[in-house]
Amino acid sequence: MTALVGRARRRAVALSLAATLAACAAGPRIDTRYSAVSQDSRVRFIIVHFTQMDEAGSLHRLTREEVSSHYLVGREPPTIWRLVPEERRAWHAGPSYWRGATALNASSVGIEIVNLGNGDVAGAPYQAFPEAQIEAVVALVRAVAKRHGVAPDRILGHAEVQPQTRNDPGPRFPWRRLAEAGLIPWPDAAQVAAAAGHWRAALPSAAWWQERLAAHGYQVPRSGELDGETRRVLAVFQMRYRPERYDGEPDAETAALLEVVTTPGGLQLRRPDGHWAAFTAE
Ligand SMILES: [Zn+2]
Repeated sequence: MTALVGRARRRAVALSLAATLAACAAGPRIDTRYSAVSQDSRVRFIIVHFTQMDEAGSLHRLTREEVSSHYLVGREPPTIWRLVPEERRAWHAGPSYWRGATALNASSVGIEIVNLGNGDVAGAPYQAFPEAQIEAVVALVRAVAKRHGVAPDRILGHAEVQPQTRNDPGPRFPWRRLAEAGLIPWPDAAQVAAAAGHWRAALPSAAWWQERLAAHGYQVPRSGELDGETRRVLAVFQMRYRPERYDGEPDAETAALLEVVTTPGGLQLRRPDGHWAAFTAE
């Protein structure tokens, strides 16, 4: 009798333990009948990179090492691999900064593009991107931006959010194509031409360059001198807007571009009907 009671009790305890474990695994019951109107995606940025290595190397590195991206766009054919789900964090942007926002891995989708960059040789020419690969990137950026409501001025290159240590996606990445596709804002050409005429007479001061580069979004020193770090940020700006020359040297055209992108009404966004309209940042 005693033995039977003992067995029954042990069995009851075992059953209740099993039920508790099952409940823990499933978690508490959640009622999802109500949904808040005040919510948005955690994805606020899209960051574009090149891998600086071939396709096999890129796939291995981004899936087996301590670095990753949500997407990898191949070269020929431009297969789009999804390596990390968009709702999870990929490790692609490191200690990054844009307009006061930091650690952008937490709030971005990272897109890596298979491209050899400029190899390991400083000053070496950069590899071009095949047309089909750019079309794949444009389609992917469009889809991700739409899905998460990413503002057009938050679609950035890795170098822009980490200018002192990165140069990707480099001067051959055609940002202008993304502008023509209506994905990012672009400086109004007439305003740039007018401003360049003004700056040809005398270039702005170092403090002006630093103030405007910071206003645009970059992390830049405020030393009042055109030091190495400031020139590096300037070169990154040139890679995007004036890729024919990205030596980080201040010149009238770069001053004009920077003035226009940091002046209200200077940036334009191409609408689906093909017309360009003034772009206002959020
Ligand atoms: Zn990168």
